[in-house]
Amino acid sequence: MIISIDFDKVIADTQELKDFYIKNEFQKRYPELSKDAPNVSFEELETTGVLPKTILREITHDMYADIKTADILKPILNSVKSINKLSRDHTVKIVTARSDESLDVALKWLATYKVNENIEVIGVGYTNSKRPFLEGSDVFIDDRYQNFEDVYDIIPHLLLMNGKYWQDYSHPKVTRVYNWNDIMDYIVKLNK
Ligand SMILES: [Mg+2]
Repeated sequence: MIISIDFDKVIADTQELKDFYIKNEFQKRYPELSKDAPNVSFEELETTGVLPKTILREITHDMYADIKTADILKPILNSVKSINKLSRDHTVKIVTARSDESLDVALKWLATYKVNENIEVIGVGYTNSKRPFLEGSDVFIDDRYQNFEDVYDIIPHLLLMNGKYWQDYSHPKVTRVYNWNDIMDYIVKLNK
């Protein structure tokens, strides 16, 4: 099988990094905006439109591209072990919205945590669809349901890594998973 996997929030846990960036950069760069939302979380910024999209994209880019913050990113429990295991029997691809410097940070991170170096990593860019890079995939795992919207017709198994802010979303073609044990159980069943 071909198994395509997103990076942020599926392999790497971005929560601490986001909290750090909110405290250190959002409030510093946009004191006026943050005055009204002193305890805002990154997801709230993303979902409520507190920040214009262009500014949010700029902060996201800087946050992911800053090599100093790479050590704040930690693996999601069992992600690396599971991916390496899957790569023995399947073609695993990492398909991330990251590109340029932020992709370099992810590549260094994957090497640091000893993710199988034969796994192809594709950075599609934040404003681009992942679809062209997902053609032929049997399974696609992402934490953003928006990334499923243009691949419902081409990928038979879509797994949504649970996120606090996507609770109302459901789709007959999408299975919600909560951790890597769920993902591995799902894939084991497919092989039976
Ligand atoms: Mg993600």
